[in-house]
Amino acid sequence: MRDPILLTPGPLTTSLATKVAMLNDWGSWDAEFNALTAGVCRRLVAIVDGGAGFVCVPMQGSGTYAVEAAIGTLLPRDGKLLVLVNGAYGERMAKLTRTMGRALSVLDFGETHPVEPAQVAAALATDPAITHVGVIHCETSTGMLNPLEEVARVVEAAGRRLIVDAMSSFGVLPLSARDLAFDAVIASSNKALEGVPGMGFVLARKDALLAAKGNAHSLSLDLHDQFVYMSETGRWRYTPPTHVVAALAAALDQYDAEGGRLGRLARYEGNCARLLAGLAALGLKPFLPSALQAPVIVTVLAPSHPGYAFPELYERAKASGFILYPGKLTELDTFRVGCIGAIGSAEIDGALAAIGQALGAMFSDTQPDQR
Ligand SMILES: *Cc1c(COP(=O)(O)O)cnc(C)c1O
Repeated sequence: MRDPILLTPGPLTTSLATKVAMLNDWGSWDAEFNALTAGVCRRLVAIVDGGAGFVCVPMQGSGTYAVEAAIGTLLPRDGKLLVLVNGAYGERMAKLTRTMGRALSVLDFGETHPVEPAQVAAALATDPAITHVGVIHCETSTGMLNPLEEVARVVEAAGRRLIVDAMSSFGVLPLSARDLAFDAVIASSNKALEGVPGMGFVLARKDALLAAKGNAHSLSLDLHDQFVYMSETGRWRYTPPTHVVAALAAALDQYDAEGGRLGRLARYEGNCARLLAGLAALGLKPFLPSALQAPVIVTVLAPSHPGYAFPELYERAKASGFILYPGKLTELDTFRVGCIGAIGSAEIDGALAAIGQALGAMFSDTQPDQR
């Protein structure tokens, strides 16, 4: 029996080759494992055209641990972060900054609007205390793509530093150190690279990271310490997620074989277009206009039929072998369907058939209001 297909933003469906890569035990001090980590890091830097000016610092844990490590380390104790918010992940970045007691300012654009670069420029002009800006590339809670290049230009022009949460877009959407200035890009093993969950990583500008000694509020989330230890010994500072690293190395082999970023983008765009067309045929509407829709995850407006309830849709789709994702909007009833993972047109078609069947059954069980 095959596992259910995960139409979620991660963890997501992984290939057999990626799963098989986890069948070995690795010694965490062993030279072979150190070489595996070094190879993964080198390839991650190359994905953003980082070159010699950038380093990859892997961090045990989920993506949020890496975000918290990046901000806690790169933001000086007397620095101030401006977080650009238009969904749950922007809110999370603000919350973790507040939790660690650093100065914070928030520009909230609301869930239905992309980040507005002109407003960022205005905020930077009014508040000279702001040293860094945090932005979410693809706001996974809605699927919205933010205008990263424009934001980066505004931040650079204002002489401030940029920290990018590119968790769900990394390796798929354009993000190159040749095109935009950033101090850190943060992502994780279990999103568009199609690895398994267990490690985040920060691609940091080397001079910014080396200047960040002593900033961290936390021992285990000290990115500078992790980097220095790793560069001196080749080893992770504390117990590494060995199987996760091995799976990510295998996932990166498949990424390269698919044609790297452009190959993966083409498959995800195909998945997303097929999904949107199929949803429309079922009478379902996406939350976002297509210009703002990243080919990562689609937020769908819940049908207004009285027979609709997400928990029942979820159970019925799961019985057909497909795991859907709940909505995360505060004001609208929605659900989400992911386009990423080791899936293609067959899985998207299967998911659409499962959703259509589930809704058909739910709607025929309930008569619409008779008035
Ligand atoms: C997945 C994700 C994260 C990290 O979430 P975790 O649950 O900690 O892995 C952060 N930001 C964005 C935009 C994400 O999509």
